[in-house]
Amino acid sequence: MITPEEKQAMLAAIIASTDDVIISMTTEGIITSWNPAAERLFGYMEPEVVGQHISLIIPAERLDEEKFILGQIVKGEKVEHFETFRLTRNRVLIPLSLTVSPIRNNNGCIIGASKIARDISERQRADDKQAMLAAIVDTSDDAIISKTLGGIITSWNPAAERLFGYAEKEAVGKHISLIIPANRLHEEDTIIGNISKGNKIDHFETLRLAKDGRLIPISVSISPIRNRSGIITGASKIARDISHQKTAAEKQGVLAAIVDTSDDTILSKTLDGTITSWNKAAVKMFGFTEAEAIGKHISLIIPPERLNEEAYIIGEVSKGNKVDHFQTVRRTKNGGLVPISLSVSPVIDEHGKVIGASKIARDISTEQASQQEMAQLYRQLKELNEKKDEFIGLASHELKTPLTSINGYLQILGQRITDEKNKAFVNKMRLQVSKLSLLVNDLLDVSKIEAGKLHFANEEFNIRAVVDDAVDLISHANSRYQIILHSSVTAHLIKGDAHRIEQVIVNLLTNAIRYSPGSDRVEVYLTHESREIKIGVKDFGVGIAPEKLNHVFTRYYRVDDNNSKVSGLGIGLYLCYEIVTRHKGKIWVESEPGIGSTFWFTLPTDF
Ligand code: ADP
Repeated sequence: MITPEEKQAMLAAIIASTDDVIISMTTEGIITSWNPAAERLFGYMEPEVVGQHISLIIPAERLDEEKFILGQIVKGEKVEHFETFRLTRNRVLIPLSLTVSPIRNNNGCIIGASKIARDISERQRADDKQAMLAAIVDTSDDAIISKTLGGIITSWNPAAERLFGYAEKEAVGKHISLIIPANRLHEEDTIIGNISKGNKIDHFETLRLAKDGRLIPISVSISPIRNRSGIITGASKIARDISHQKTAAEKQGVLAAIVDTSDDTILSKTLDGTITSWNKAAVKMFGFTEAEAIGKHISLIIPPERLNEEAYIIGEVSKGNKVDHFQTVRRTKNGGLVPISLSVSPVIDEHGKVIGASKIARDISTEQASQQEMAQLYRQLKELNEKKDEFIGLASHELKTPLTSINGYLQILGQRITDEKNKAFVNKMRLQVSKLSLLVNDLLDVSKIEAGKLHFANEEFNIRAVVDDAVDLISHANSRYQIILHSSVTAHLIKGDAHRIEQVIVNLLTNAIRYSPGSDRVEVYLTHESREIKIGVKDFGVGIAPEKLNHVFTRYYRVDDNNSKVSGLGIGLYLCYEIVTRHKGKIWVESEPGIGSTFWFTLPTDF
């Protein structure tokens, strides 16, 4: 048993050594004791304050508190954990937690109060920090979630609400599997396993499930949460939506795959010519593997005599220009040469600076081979064509001689026959023979043109007379048609081959009639314009489709849709064209299908 004296001594020792401030005072507030902790906290020594009023350490605006506390004491009540501020000797405000108890004498009368004060600045700082952290969590763009080791969600910030679509109250208290896709539940075990061991998980990329069922690619960092004693009680998760990063990365992946699988050789190099990438097609084309090529100078594949090309290409690319379809030759690993078509583009960094070049090369050996084949075919075709022209020339020449004698004999026969019926037959025969002669003559002309042997007379003649002759000739042969001449020219001398010009007009008139079966009229124009004579033959016939107009002057060309009933070889207009252009004139046609055509040609007057 300890004596009351011993007990007192023990209490005094405790009071003297405790870290808590212990003060006693009368019910009026006069300080009666002041322990060493009070001395340390407030800066006043015990002898200075004993006998002073407690208001010494109370800020003016808080004097009422003291009245309240003493009021409670007088009533015999305790005031516990009253948080307030007190003033030190050098006027610093200190946050305190006060516990004030009545002191009674042996008779039980309240004679004063004991105050135990604890400095709570540390705790306040901690509270402030917490508030700050809470604000950070609240305003963070990253989803921040905490959960227990059992996976129960304990906090859920606004960014988590936005990312996953669940409100805080929908999520807190639920199991974290709320946002984990079924096929990824096993990840949670690994995570919790790591966290329980105190390990952090950094930038773990995975997928999580939003409320609307969307899968969100996220990067998540998970840290253990420890309590005051350092025991791990849960985990905090910071999740970042990486869908944008993902799409950029996926795009990059797709591009890389395209480059990889391309049939074209794709490579890149720096401006000083160091190879920086080399796709599979490049391996195939040049024989160097990626490892053998990357880091080497591009001259690896350039034949020495073509090294200057590289300077040109790099010069263009440095200026930001592209080099397109540059045909050249490159060297393979085994020394072979490949003809290629190169397209080189500048590689530009994010600041717009040219940092290198990308090259796309296509092997054109097959293309070149086929070009050679084409050239060969073209030569053969030309030879065949020449042979055909030669044959036509020969054949028409051979045909011409018997035709001339047939015509001669028919003429004699016509004179000798008296019977009218037989005479008519002979005349019909002569008409057909003359048609045949015309055809043979035309064919002969074509072959002469091809052989460069069609000669022209160059004499002065009256163009009006030639037009009149042609109109007369055709009018006689086609009595059903009215051929009307519109002319302001009475007589005009030009130089050239009158027969050939007549042949042109006759041809045009014949066509005008042949290709206007439903009409009975053809108009002819003859005008004298500044330095030329212009002649037109207008019909009201089938016309020619616009897209065919350009072709009608081509040798052997016939418009398929308007000549089904009209026979011909497609050489009449070709001859007209040759004759007119050899006279330094022009020939063209204006036409509208179903309305009619006008063929025009000009002849220079100073020929
Ligand atoms: P063809 O002997 O076939 O008439 P041409 O060289 O004289 O040969 O004419 C070429 C083609 O142009 C003809 O087949 C015909 O389709 C077309 N053509 C020529 N003249 C006319 C015209 N007056 N009206 C409509 N089509 C015409």
